[in-house]
Amino acid sequence: MKKTGYFIGLLITLSVSAQDKTAIKFAKTITAADLESHLSVLASDEYEGRETGEKGQKMAAGYIAKHFEKLGFEAPVDGSYLQKFDLVQSQIGKVYLQKEGEEKIGFKDFLYYSKAETMGEEYIKVVMASRKSDKKLFKDAYVVFVSEEFEDFRAFIEEAKEADAKGFMMILQDDEAYESLLSRVGPYFQRPGMGVRDNEAAKLIVGNADLAGWMFGKPLGEIEEGATTYLVFNADYLDKPVSTENVLGFLRGSEKPEEVLVITSHYDHIGVIDGEINNGADDDGSGTVTVLEIAEAFAEASKKNKGPKRSILFMTVTGEEKGLLGSKYYTDADPIFPLEHTVANLNIDMVGRIDPAHEENPEYIYLIGSDKLSTALHHLSERMNKTYTHLELDYTYNDENDPNRFYYRSDHYNFAKNNVPIIFYFNGTHPDYHRPTDTIEKIAFQIMEKRARLIFHTAWEIANRGERIKVDKVEVRGE
Ligand SMILES: [Zn+2]
Repeated sequence: MKKTGYFIGLLITLSVSAQDKTAIKFAKTITAADLESHLSVLASDEYEGRETGEKGQKMAAGYIAKHFEKLGFEAPVDGSYLQKFDLVQSQIGKVYLQKEGEEKIGFKDFLYYSKAETMGEEYIKVVMASRKSDKKLFKDAYVVFVSEEFEDFRAFIEEAKEADAKGFMMILQDDEAYESLLSRVGPYFQRPGMGVRDNEAAKLIVGNADLAGWMFGKPLGEIEEGATTYLVFNADYLDKPVSTENVLGFLRGSEKPEEVLVITSHYDHIGVIDGEINNGADDDGSGTVTVLEIAEAFAEASKKNKGPKRSILFMTVTGEEKGLLGSKYYTDADPIFPLEHTVANLNIDMVGRIDPAHEENPEYIYLIGSDKLSTALHHLSERMNKTYTHLELDYTYNDENDPNRFYYRSDHYNFAKNNVPIIFYFNGTHPDYHRPTDTIEKIAFQIMEKRARLIFHTAWEIANRGERIKVDKVEVRGE
């Protein structure tokens, strides 16, 4: 009995001495009450679901920027907290193919998809090909190939683009497959979307045997490889520029200021749909207010001369719901701090709820990606939880074979693809996901506080440890 008691006593002493009392002190400034008070603003009806480019998103940007200012953070974008950029909101207009005055209409006689800009009517060369065709045939042409049903041919597109192909046509032999594709994805392609125009992107037309017969003037089966025809093609886009902004607050490190830890969440959501406000309390109001609270904890530490040794960039991004656009803009177009000096990214997207799988044990968090690029990061994260927060760390969604592929579905991915080690913090999905019922009264603030403190301790360790987090693994890509 005594012996055991002695050992337990020793273990407790050891674990206490392994704790950083300073870190604990500032972690305590992260409270359920503060999280709730920020969220009661950002997830209120007044913010109209924070849709990218809309009034509510701008209001949220203002609220977050003011918070960073109050904390005394540097405004790192040429003296501003806002990193502004333009997206396009586009909807496809009139699409047609013409031959000798006869017209085939887009989304009726064929499907069309591209992110590339179009310049009104074009005169196009169309060449019947196969995957084995001599690539010389592809130059400046729309390459036609015949398939049984719709297939993923991105690899082929890349190859053909290298041979200077201008566009692609897939002819589906199976008419039923074509009709079903048309009715399934046709409306989806015609919906207004948001993004960045990419003039390198492939132009893709999908049609059936009738279309091929019309283009080449003979039945599909008789069109020989290398056969060429010329058509007029038109695809109008109704584009509208949408200005939006990421919000950045910068806390300069005391010893290694050039090394930067980035803590992110997306503050945009899906706005008003069919007259109903999608408040996005969990998605991702919860992550956003967590960033605000962690930021405050570090600001407090900094005021007491306990600021981080490395720099920390607190960044709430826009455009996530439209396709990770804000984080993509930061990493691909304008990384304010060089990515090679970015030591890690902790991304927080949905941390305020308890998913159906954890009703019995609500003290959990899903971690995704922590071990993908850096063993050290993974171990550090585990150690912080063991020492301070004792949550159940659930790695279900970290499995490469998980069909949800969450690793590719939030903003951290744009850092990971640049070899920056990441951890994605996530509570899992629930029936209110992307619905007007994702509201504040369903948030479990006590558990969220614990999760926020885990992220704080992890950030504290990354920013203060002697050695920079090492990248020792190569991620297998698969977007
Ligand atoms: Zn989200």
